[in-house]
Amino acid sequence: MASDEIKNMCIEFINSEFRDFRGRWVRDDLFQPGWLEQFLARWDLQIEYPLETTTLTDLLALRLLLRRMIETIAEPPLASEDLTTLNAILLKPSFKRQLVVEQEALRLETLPEKKDWAWVQTEIAASFVHILTAHEPARLKICANPYCRGIFYDESKSRTRRYCSIDKCANLWKVRNFRARARQQNADKA
Ligand SMILES: [Zn+2]
Repeated sequence: MASDEIKNMCIEFINSEFRDFRGRWVRDDLFQPGWLEQFLARWDLQIEYPLETTTLTDLLALRLLLRRMIETIAEPPLASEDLTTLNAILLKPSFKRQLVVEQEALRLETLPEKKDWAWVQTEIAASFVHILTAHEPARLKICANPYCRGIFYDESKSRTRRYCSIDKCANLWKVRNFRARARQQNADKA
């Protein structure tokens, strides 16, 4: 998988808690039938163990941890307790490695000892770590629309993007701010 693409795994995972841009409803995709299966298939995480009762609790805790870490990403260093929790997740599975030939090139492949839920959590956490180490963490942002709070990676040249979507979140606040200014001007005139 392309290294640039892998960063989207944790973003997609965190955004499984989806809020309507106008604050009308919240949907938790983790509890939607089939969402998790599709997410695993999309990211090549072929699990060999059934979903256990503790699995969803672990995934919810991981999602909460990643969101909290993103909230404070603009003010390093990372909180040491968050770092400890994240490392505990990263350290869970064992891996084995093998040399493979791929399109006539040699590549060192890392395989999990067991394709279980600990491994899935590690891969999601590793996707986040990939942003911290190989990309620009400051570009990992939370949508400025307070109803939405969706996570996105700001690819803009100016690094000034504030909203996850232009048609929904950015537009909503453009219109609201415009109306607020117009009201203020009318009030000033009166
Ligand atoms: Zn948004």
